[in-house]
Amino acid sequence: MLSVTEVEKIILDLVKPLTDKEFIPLPQATNRILADNISSNFDFPYDDNSAMDGYAVKFQDVFMASEDSPVSLNIVEEIPAGYCPQKTILSGETARIFTGAILPLGADTIVIQENTQSEGCQVDIFTPPLKNDFVRYKGSFYRAGDFLLSSGSKLNPPEMAILATAQCLQVPVVRSPIIAILSTGDELITPDESMVKGKIIDSNQYLLASFIQQNGGIPLPLGIIADNPLFLENVIANALNKADWVISTGGVSVGDYDYVDEVLRKLGGKFHVKGVKMKPGKPLTIATFDQDKLYFGIPGNPVSTMVTCWRFLQTAMEKLSGKKNYRYPSIVKGITRNHLRSQGNRENYVWGNVKVVEGYYQFTLAQGSHNSGNLVNLQNINALAIIPQGTNLIEIGDDVDILLVNH
Ligand code: AMP
Ligand code: MG
Repeated sequence: MLSVTEVEKIILDLVKPLTDKEFIPLPQATNRILADNISSNFDFPYDDNSAMDGYAVKFQDVFMASEDSPVSLNIVEEIPAGYCPQKTILSGETARIFTGAILPLGADTIVIQENTQSEGCQVDIFTPPLKNDFVRYKGSFYRAGDFLLSSGSKLNPPEMAILATAQCLQVPVVRSPIIAILSTGDELITPDESMVKGKIIDSNQYLLASFIQQNGGIPLPLGIIADNPLFLENVIANALNKADWVISTGGVSVGDYDYVDEVLRKLGGKFHVKGVKMKPGKPLTIATFDQDKLYFGIPGNPVSTMVTCWRFLQTAMEKLSGKKNYRYPSIVKGITRNHLRSQGNRENYVWGNVKVVEGYYQFTLAQGSHNSGNLVNLQNINALAIIPQGTNLIEIGDDVDILLVNH
């Protein structure tokens, strides 16, 4: 059976980033992935401007200024932000200037107002500036025509601000991946059905839909499929037609009613993963179909589903979405505040919370039963502690690897 890191690599090698492009209005572009390189016809800053409130001067006029012998200049103009200077500064002259305002011709340096004293049309400079102090030069942040943002960037707040500045009102983004989800099992009912003894509510469908949305995908929920190979075949064939990927839960173990592998084989799937040495999540199946379609068959226990999403699918979805520099799971080093036990035969993920204490991560187990069928105590967790294969016990205060989730 494959290790967790082997499976991670197999998945990432299989994932082909989407390249289809669509244009969407700028206000809707947050969290999307840019599909083209973006440039602007403008230099940034557009003009030489002032970084401070003060006085625009010729350095030559003021470099000798001191407390004992201040330099006195004539104020010939006031230049607020948004205003175009009308005058050229001559020797002995200055302009009152404010942050962001265009530097007038003739001036090369800003003296901050804290180092001056003004009266009427005169200002005294007490402290000599350095040459070019507080001037932001045209094009010093960016030159017109260069790449401003590169394709594959995720559009977070800074990138949104940059797009606005570039007047990119219709943003080319990679289309969002469509991921079909289905739940297999004769025992499953939907949340709006009345409870019947022996049945359980299909929670995985909601878990997966939410996870896919959180990661920029469009879930395509296909409902509950009974443990019947013919039904399964129909639904999976249909799902493969409609979606980029298909994720099913349940039916991939070795039980008599576990039909997913058989159906995938019948539909011509190529198997890449059949089990992973991890707990929970061991019976993971991964197969591919034509046109780079991936099928993930995840075991049905809700915690197995969640841990599989966090450990493998998050990074895989980032890559699928076209994000360059997709992120690997954030695994940090910390110490545990509980004994962490494992049978030692698989890499074991246990759930809980981390907080940073004096700069170090500290992990605490979630209260309640640590059972892969128990989704209740997954609520509000932010970390999974990883007990390596071959380790039976990590003692209180010992180092542990911690996978950060929901962060
Ligand atoms: P399976 O992987 O089909 O053997 O299912 C393992 C366990 O997960 C069983 O106890 C199922 O009842 C439970 N389970 C399977 N599918 C779901 C689902 N969609 N929602 C909640 N629990 C499920
Ligand atoms: Mg089942």
